[in-house]
Amino acid sequence: MAEPDFYLSDEQRELQRSVREFVAKEITPIAAACDATERFPVELFPKLGELGYLGLRFPEETGGSGGSNLDYAILCEELAFGSAGIALGVYVHMALACAALEAFGEGDLKKTWLPPALRGEKIGAWAFAEAGAGSDAGSVATRAVADGDDYILDGSKLFITNGPIADFLVVVASTAPEARLKGLSLFLVERDRPGFRVAGSLSKLGVRASEMAELVFEGCRIPRENRIGREHVGFLDALRTLTLGRIASAAFAIGVARAAFEATLAYAGERVQFGKPIGTFQAVRFGIADMAVQIEAARLLCHRAAIAADRGLPHGREANMAKLFATEACTKIVERALHFHGAAGFMSDSPIQRFYRDCKVFELGEGSSELQRDMIARELGL
Ligand SMILES: Cc1cc2nc3c(=O)[nH]c(=O)nc-3n(C[C@H](O)[C@H](O)[C@H](O)COP(=O)(O)OP(=O)(O)OC[C@H]3O[C@@H](n4cnc5c(N)ncnc54)[C@H](O)[C@@H]3O)c2cc1C
Repeated sequence: MAEPDFYLSDEQRELQRSVREFVAKEITPIAAACDATERFPVELFPKLGELGYLGLRFPEETGGSGGSNLDYAILCEELAFGSAGIALGVYVHMALACAALEAFGEGDLKKTWLPPALRGEKIGAWAFAEAGAGSDAGSVATRAVADGDDYILDGSKLFITNGPIADFLVVVASTAPEARLKGLSLFLVERDRPGFRVAGSLSKLGVRASEMAELVFEGCRIPRENRIGREHVGFLDALRTLTLGRIASAAFAIGVARAAFEATLAYAGERVQFGKPIGTFQAVRFGIADMAVQIEAARLLCHRAAIAADRGLPHGREANMAKLFATEACTKIVERALHFHGAAGFMSDSPIQRFYRDCKVFELGEGSSELQRDMIARELGL
């Protein structure tokens, strides 16, 4: 039988092997403890930087290590296989904060922040969501008012991953409130900037190894040079990068689903009831076979979207489909995994209950399933 991902190049297989090794050594052993204590292991960042993983997809001249979107999807799946929470913290830093800075940042701002961020010496966050702005980005109420050579930021942000540990934030703020979505700009705010504070950490059901905060900006004065990208349309420009966010979400879901699947496959061979391993019962066998099919189908959709992006082809619909299918499949797979583990999977020391708490968020973030369906239907002409 061919390997399911026989189409990967030798370099991509090597990347997959080396990230797997890293995850087995550095992430899997601490995943449960980070989940229990709601702590992101910041000491991982320089290690991920040194291996060039944080710089994947970033040009070498900015301190990146090059590579493709498919490489990036491979990295995301493997990180999430070890810990969805840790993968989320790394993702927000890389794919949102650093990616915006790389694509739209200029001059000294980019030179000062991007290379150390890609080395893992500085941690970034992406501050978009607010109490009144989630799926509806046009409702962002945080204001950035031009004042001489500066902008003054006022408002608050909610649900911000890496908020408690970030050295810098890429903040979405309105520079033209009447224009709603077409009036949103991006700004880099340093952690020690007067007028900015972390209002408090937030505790979550899942992905607890990532840290989350509420942020407040009160008369926070920042120089014009801290604006990232074009005024008013900086956020719309950045939305283009969110298609890669959907590829990453799909890859995360595949990683978690694979972790649940592998645990279930092993358990079905070990757990004996009625004198036989439970994997000999048709209901369990069929369930596990379905898991395997769904994981491979999800990975094909995800890799198709990544390859389309690598070839410079339109990939928005492909990314929407991959994200929708993979995240919903993951939730179903993890539910079945818990079911087939019986009470053992329900116990606090079982990784299965962690997967069960982790998986749901992928259906919500980066555009919920409803928004994905809506965009797919629009592409279909409806
Ligand atoms: C673990 C986690 C980490 C996060 N990290 C970050 C971060 O780092 N930075 C950041 O900025 N934000 C972050 N967020 C917040 C995230 O951006 C929001 O959760 C997301 O934008 C959705 O917004 P909402 O949660 O307010 O849901 P809402 O937009 O209020 O949606 C609630 C429900 O209504 C449905 N709905 C909304 N609009 C429509 C529609 N038009 N049609 C049909 N159904 C609709 C949704 O599908 C959903 O089911 C994070 C959230 C979580 C849970």
